[in-house]
Amino acid sequence: MSAHTTAHDRSHTGLRVAVVGGSLTGPTAALLLHAGFDDVILYEAAPASAPLGGGLIGLEHSSLDILDQLGVPQHEFVRYDSEAVLEFAVRQRRPGSKRRHLYAGRNTTWTLLHAALTRRLPSHVLHSGKRVTGLTGEYGQPLLHFADGDTATADLVVFADGRASTGRRLLDPHRQLRYAGYVAHRGQTSTTPPGLRDFLRFAPTHSGMQFNVAPIPGGTDWTFYLGATAAQYSDFFGASPTRRVFALPQHVTDTARAAVDANAQQYLPDEQAALVHATNTRMAAAVLDIDPPTRMVWPIGTGHAVLLGDALAPVRPHTARGANNGIEQAAGLTAALTQHRKYSADLAAALGGWQHRHLPTAVAAVQLGPTLGHQYGLGE
Ligand SMILES: Cc1cc2nc3c(=O)[nH]c(=O)nc-3n(C[C@H](O)[C@H](O)[C@H](O)COP(=O)(O)OP(=O)(O)OC[C@H]3O[C@@H](n4cnc5c(N)ncnc54)[C@H](O)[C@@H]3O)c2cc1C
Repeated sequence: MSAHTTAHDRSHTGLRVAVVGGSLTGPTAALLLHAGFDDVILYEAAPASAPLGGGLIGLEHSSLDILDQLGVPQHEFVRYDSEAVLEFAVRQRRPGSKRRHLYAGRNTTWTLLHAALTRRLPSHVLHSGKRVTGLTGEYGQPLLHFADGDTATADLVVFADGRASTGRRLLDPHRQLRYAGYVAHRGQTSTTPPGLRDFLRFAPTHSGMQFNVAPIPGGTDWTFYLGATAAQYSDFFGASPTRRVFALPQHVTDTARAAVDANAQQYLPDEQAALVHATNTRMAAAVLDIDPPTRMVWPIGTGHAVLLGDALAPVRPHTARGANNGIEQAAGLTAALTQHRKYSADLAAALGGWQHRHLPTAVAAVQLGPTLGHQYGLGE
């Protein structure tokens, strides 16, 4: 191929795709695209050896089917196949009336799914330790800039770089994260209470909090939603909620730990309070809002850049839509690009069609978050 080959010429031999972000959305997109395109590279900021963590994630049938078709068998990332959700209203630390419904999906964990995806990425596709800092349209093609001074060209840049996305900052700078006034405190224990198979939700009445618990391989995962001012968040985790959007175990201070334990002691039933108290591995996520997206695609020189997953629209955890949105958007993007590759569909029109199909779902999930938060008495 000559050095002056244009993006259009290349559509017959294969689009060069750069995916930014190697968590869930990015690896899904890279694997789906790798099946049909020769030149797909995934850039992940974290070094390969970085400690990783993350908790329970519910995946709907749409996402489960996409992973199935990708050749990732469900047993690799779903270890407890219960579909049941049991909700308890808690009064004076006693679980009262129980409501049971079935979730149209299955629970996985970030750790299981991330491993199932990334172990399938060929080593020439996954480039770890590459933090993207900029994107320009120099020389006609999108040019990615990295923190280490490197650059890389691509015809299509797929930003799947999460809640604090560099892609969103570059492409859609007016959409800023806003702290919603509460925190998803998370914990993982290395024991599972006897008989725990389902997803349990405890809602202490009139207290503006919620506690969820479910089994994970080798232990239990819990999430405790509690209000906190931005100043308290900084005190708990060492930085503001919009700067430290996730607090990893090393960021969780004794103050945060004590505050969570005290709330558990005051509001949760004995068994759940004891579970919290006995948990060593703790994390947290700030609950954040953002203006709904109005677009997903941007022309960059002769190429394009897109935002997907949390990079496009971080949503509140109660919507259980974040990972689902990212996976569905990655599959839709692959469908659009495949029409371009196999049948010469116009690339800009194909990307526009993809946006048209997926934007309403992302907007709806962004808007649903505050509604659910309000219902649960959480947030400002
Ligand atoms: C408590 C809680 C419960 C949740 N429950 C659910 C649920 O039930 N169902 C559901 O669907 N979702 C759920 N979610 C949301 C889900 O976890 C996220 O939507 C999902 O992890 C987003 O994946 P992502 O790959 O788009 O982004 P992220 O997981 O944020 O990953 C972004 C990646 O990009 C990398 N990166 C960042 N910046 C750069 C850069 N400049 N250059 C290169 N790489 C970069 C990061 O290191 C990271 O690996 C929940 C979230 C929380 C906090």
